[in-house]
Amino acid sequence: MSLAWQPFLPDVTMYQRLKEFVLSKDRKQQVRISRSLTAAYVFLACIGLQVYACESGFMDPAQAWPLSLVILANILFWYVVLRSGLNLRFSDPALTLPQVAAALTIIVGAYSVTGRIHGSVMMLLALVQVFGIFNMNLRDSRMAGAYTLALMGAAMIYKTATDPANYPYQVEIAHFILIAAILPTISTLAAQLSDMRARLQAQKNELAHALTRIQILATRDELTGLYNRRHMREVMAQHQKRLARSGYHRFCLALVDLDHFKRINDTHGHGIGDEVLKRFAAILQSALRETDVLARWGGEEFLVLMNDTTPEQANMGLERARAALANAPLIPSLPDLEVSFSAGLTAYLDIEPLDVCIERADRALYDAKRQGRHRTIIDLKGPGTDAPHKEAATAH
Ligand code: GH3
Ligand code: MG
Ligand code: MG
Repeated sequence: MSLAWQPFLPDVTMYQRLKEFVLSKDRKQQVRISRSLTAAYVFLACIGLQVYACESGFMDPAQAWPLSLVILANILFWYVVLRSGLNLRFSDPALTLPQVAAALTIIVGAYSVTGRIHGSVMMLLALVQVFGIFNMNLRDSRMAGAYTLALMGAAMIYKTATDPANYPYQVEIAHFILIAAILPTISTLAAQLSDMRARLQAQKNELAHALTRIQILATRDELTGLYNRRHMREVMAQHQKRLARSGYHRFCLALVDLDHFKRINDTHGHGIGDEVLKRFAAILQSALRETDVLARWGGEEFLVLMNDTTPEQANMGLERARAALANAPLIPSLPDLEVSFSAGLTAYLDIEPLDVCIERADRALYDAKRQGRHRTIIDLKGPGTDAPHKEAATAH
């Protein structure tokens, strides 16, 4: 027997577990922490510049060490805050503004100690602001810009006064003009991005709203809120498939039609007719089991699909609806208005086309009407039985 060649597959679950351990199990926290760690790149560049400045003799290593430690402590601090979930207590859990402010402070610190090469540190200020624009609104971005200008201005004045050899005022003025031009530009970009995000969010909400509306329109009847005929056909087809697969999820269909509904319309008007339809739909719905599916099949006709039940048991739901109609007037302002219904009930037989079953229920309904209305006729046609065996379940 030869050994099957096993290709090397990276252990995805191990990578996933490591990621969850370092970042978080929560997807949003993962994004926040990885963004914070990506920003750490700026800090490492700061340390790199200091090492270079020390190596080149522009900087005293005694000054470089403390700042490098502050930088590393800063990276660790934000990691602990975010990884422990402490950030979730704040209104902006990404803590963008405080992180940006800390980073800007550190960079101004580095600017003040890197001596002759301090000009290169200045670029990092813009980089930090760029990180901020993804999460900051215009106000926060402007605040960060103003804070940077104030802090840099103070550092420049101090360094020009104490170390004019490395920080000649002519250079500092030029630097100041540069950052005073760059930072507001970044703030404007942040504002545009923030606007764009808000617009996209609004569009997304509108689309979600429209989609829900379309789904309702496509599946529901506007007057009663019940499923419409088209959607009911899909529901029945699903149940048909479920029965074919399982062999035991049997269901019954009942066609329910209001008696002499035209008279109600003619006597009380279409408005009352509509109200009767709505209230009847609600009564029928509450009389049925939660798993039963009710649809408006047409004008004053409803179709009920009853799950996992025999026709006799299914009829109990219809009888509950009958009792509810008898107990209280359907329209309180018209206490004398009597509303009754006739129904034709039958069981779906294995693998028959749905229309055959619906026709059987329709014939039973027709019989119920012919026999005097206000009753349910159950068609007990079984497999292999040619002549339908009909039974008056309710005769009044
Ligand atoms: P039967 O007992 O034989 O069922 O008599 P019926 O009067 O209920 O039946 P018919 O088919 O003669 O009349 C049904 C009426 O239902 C006619 C139609 O105007 C009315 N109808 C259909 N849809 C609506 C609706 O949405 N609102 C209102 N108010 N009436 C409707
Ligand atoms: Mg009718
Ligand atoms: Mg009808």
